[in-house]
Amino acid sequence: MSVAASAKLNKMVKQQYLDLPQGDEVQATYVWIDGSGEGLRSKTRTLDRELKSLGETNLRDGCRRIMSLVEKEQPWFGMEQEYTLLDSDGHPFGWPRNGFPGPQGPYYCGVGADKAYGRDAVEAHYRACLYAGVKICGTNAEVMPSQWEFQVGPCEGVAMGDHLWMARYILHRVCEDFGLIASLDPKPIPGNWNGAGCHTNFSSHDMRQEGGLKAIEAAIERLAKRHHYHIRAYDPKGGRDNARRLTGHHETSKIDRFSAGRADRGCSVRIPQAVGEEQRGYFEDRRPSANCDPYVVTEALVRTCLLKEEGEEPAHYSQ
Ligand code: ADP
Ligand code: MN
Ligand code: MN
Ligand code: MN
Repeated sequence: MSVAASAKLNKMVKQQYLDLPQGDEVQATYVWIDGSGEGLRSKTRTLDRELKSLGETNLRDGCRRIMSLVEKEQPWFGMEQEYTLLDSDGHPFGWPRNGFPGPQGPYYCGVGADKAYGRDAVEAHYRACLYAGVKICGTNAEVMPSQWEFQVGPCEGVAMGDHLWMARYILHRVCEDFGLIASLDPKPIPGNWNGAGCHTNFSSHDMRQEGGLKAIEAAIERLAKRHHYHIRAYDPKGGRDNARRLTGHHETSKIDRFSAGRADRGCSVRIPQAVGEEQRGYFEDRRPSANCDPYVVTEALVRTCLLKEEGEEPAHYSQ
C-alpha cells in the first residue's frame, strides 16, 4: 500500500504549534467550488482583514432564487453521499494490489477488519462535521469494500447545498490527514462493483401532513414527465457520468427510463416503506450521481415538483 508523503508527517509534532496562544486573531478558511463544478479549493486568512470576493461562478445563486419562490412550502432535503476511499495513488484503499477483494455481500454496514476498510477516516469526518455545525445525520459502510456513505439533513432550501458542500470539503480535508483520497466518481471500479450515488430525499410541507402521500404521488407524476431534464441535472457532465452508473444493475434504475415504486431499490424514485405505511413523509430520488452539485439537484426537484408553471429550462445545461 502506498502512503502519501504528507500522511507520513508526524501529526503530534504539529500539535505543539496548534497549542500556541493565538491572542485575538482568528483564522478563517474560505472554501469554494472550482471551475469544474466538482472540485473544492480553500485558502486561509487571518480574520481582521476583509476577504476579497473571488468572483467565483457556482450555481448557488440560481438555487437560492428558486428556493425563495417556494419558501412557504418549506422544502426539506436529505442527501446520502456515497464515496470511495482510495490510496494516494488511486488504488481502492485496502484492496489487494493484484486481484480483487471477495465479492460484494458482507461489506454493506459491515463490521470487522476484513469487511470495513478505512473506518478511521469515516469516524473522524463524522466528528469534524458535528463540531463544524454541519447537519450530518448518519453514516454506514457501503456495498463495495472501501465505499462509504454519510447522510446530511433534513435541510431546508439552499441550506442543503451549503451543508453538503461543506461536508465534502471536511471529508477531503480529513482524508488528506490519513493519506487517503475520497473519490466521488459514480463508478470508480467498472464491472461487478456498486457505483456511488447521492440519493436525494425530498418533502414539502404538504407531503409531511396527514395524507401527504397524495402530494408525494403528484410530485412523482410530474417527475415522470421530466426524466431527461433531471438526468441532465444529476451529474456535472449532463448525464455522461451517470451513464456509467445507472445500468439497471447494482440497485440502480436504467438511465433512459423513469420508474417509481415502494421499497424498490431498482427504481428511479422510491417511496420508503415507512412513508407508505404512515401515508405521509417524503420520497427518495435515487438518480443523482455521487459527484452531483446539490444546488442543481435540489433546484431541479423544486422546479419540477413545486413550481406552478413547468419549464424554465436552466441555461447551464447544453446537452
Ligand atoms: P436509505 O434507507 O435510502 O439508505 P438513509 O437513512 O441513508 O436512507 O437516508 C435518509 C435521508 O432522508 C436522510 O438524509 C434524512 O435526513 C432524510 N429525510 C428524512 N426525513 C425527511 C423528510 N421528511 N424530508 C426530506 N428528507 C428527509
Ligand atoms: Mn442510505
Ligand atoms: Mn447507500
Ligand atoms: Mn438511499
